[in-house]
Amino acid sequence: MERGIANILHRDTIAVIVGSQTFERGEACFKARRVERVDASPGELKGVVRPSEQGRRPYTVRVWVREEGVAYECTCPIGVRLQFCKHTVAIALAYLEKERAEAEQGLALLRQALTTIPQPALVEGLLVMARRNMDWSTELKRMCLETLGSL
Ligand SMILES: [Zn+2]
Repeated sequence: MERGIANILHRDTIAVIVGSQTFERGEACFKARRVERVDASPGELKGVVRPSEQGRRPYTVRVWVREEGVAYECTCPIGVRLQFCKHTVAIALAYLEKERAEAEQGLALLRQALTTIPQPALVEGLLVMARRNMDWSTELKRMCLETLGSL
């Protein structure tokens, strides 16, 4: 499975696939913190969602990539018919949130490292990147001009 699940599951894509009503219910389910866990492997997303009704077993949800798009299943009455239920939406949103948080965490570490290394090393590193990528070069020049202009 070459295509990662993250390349397919975006907020807007999900909303289009499931329709606004299921999306809103899934989002409410996610915001109510009913997603107990979500795990991603290449091409697949698995999760567990706590039911709103007392006495029911947690729902097990799976979303995976196949040739013609995305497939899903859930142990709830809608999901067993292989329809996109609100739990599927909830674990997809939980996964996107988890990814976003991990990316932020990575950037925070990078920020810390960048403020720690000696400035000449930082400058050399930025120049290497600017030489490799014209867009970065342009962005860095713009940033310098903006910063100098605001001094
Ligand atoms: Zn379900």
